[in-house]
Amino acid sequence: MEPNNTAKKSNSEEQQKPSIYSLQLHELKEWLTAQGEKPFRAEQIFEWLYNKRAVSFEEMSNLSKSLREKLEENFNLTTLTTAIQQTSADGTIKFLFELHDGYSIETVLMRHDYGNSVCVTTQVGCRIGCTFCASTLGGLKRHLEAGEIVAQVVKVQKALDETGERVSSVVIMGIGEPFDNYDNMLSFLKIINHDKGLNIGARHITVSTSGIIPKIYQFADENMQINFAISLHAPNTELRSRLMPINKAYKLDDLMKAVRYYIDKTGRRISFEYGLFGKVNDQIEHAEELANLLKGLKCHVNLIPVNYVPERDYVRTPKDQIFAFEKALKNRGINVTIRREQGHDIDAACGQLRAKAREEELKS
Ligand code: SAH
Repeated sequence: MEPNNTAKKSNSEEQQKPSIYSLQLHELKEWLTAQGEKPFRAEQIFEWLYNKRAVSFEEMSNLSKSLREKLEENFNLTTLTTAIQQTSADGTIKFLFELHDGYSIETVLMRHDYGNSVCVTTQVGCRIGCTFCASTLGGLKRHLEAGEIVAQVVKVQKALDETGERVSSVVIMGIGEPFDNYDNMLSFLKIINHDKGLNIGARHITVSTSGIIPKIYQFADENMQINFAISLHAPNTELRSRLMPINKAYKLDDLMKAVRYYIDKTGRRISFEYGLFGKVNDQIEHAEELANLLKGLKCHVNLIPVNYVPERDYVRTPKDQIFAFEKALKNRGINVTIRREQGHDIDAACGQLRAKAREEELKS
């Protein structure tokens, strides 16, 4: 099923050139060769894009004028425009970027003691329909091109260049379901991981899925050293179906089989995200059931206190209940942490800023 495209903002989209950031190094080499250019120009172009962070083809001074013109004719370099930039008291920066067709997406820069982390968006909206999530309000408008995901990291890196800082890690936990835009997500991973690209180490990249099972098998077979997280949110299939309708198509039992396959295949640990929704899934019985479900698995649980979304009527779990839940898991031998909340004052939960700033877009 392809996303509903009736909401396209303008017919300029049809003529839109692909983003230069969508190309992996070998793809750029192939393009150059087809143009009668030397393939090593690809490394030079990557250097301009990812090291010098050029904003135009014009400034790529070691390329011939005719090659710069060809690049200009065929590719787009200004993929994103900053519409809103908000800085939180804790240093978190939230960007609302506008795309060439007028849609908007969110990207968040988070400051940790171990470095700067960027949270990227993979789709305009989302069709998964989790009942607690702001990203899914208004459904899916379209997939992002790989380059539109890469450009988010480049834009944030450019903002950090002003203070000589570096993006040290990337989490694919913004708007959208990355495994629903799998090929573009994979190209994105390869580009930012490449040593001639942004050179962000695989172990510093995390991808999170709501549980599209066939793609979990495919991802396991890619054998990348990337951190992998699954949005679990419930210890049994009935409750998970209530919170996440995707569980009706991809049931918890089958999800756990895919998880085991992933762990066996890659030898890597999996993270489970578990949002605590007041009185829904935050009782000690739930913690016990969760501990049973995960017993013996090489995994880690990340507890997320619910981010209040006005359109969704979940309430927060009281602090002492969160700690009691954590303790109940710990006592049963499960690795668990509580997610530190950042950017609370600037709508940092997925899709919240976009939902607020672009109400019209969600309806269109
Ligand atoms: N679509 C992917 C990537 C999103 S990651 C996925 O589902 O994994 C963002 C994480 O935040 C997911 O675990 C998501 O379920 C969770 N989340 C979304 N809305 C939330 C809310 N209101 N409160 C707490 N967690 C939320």
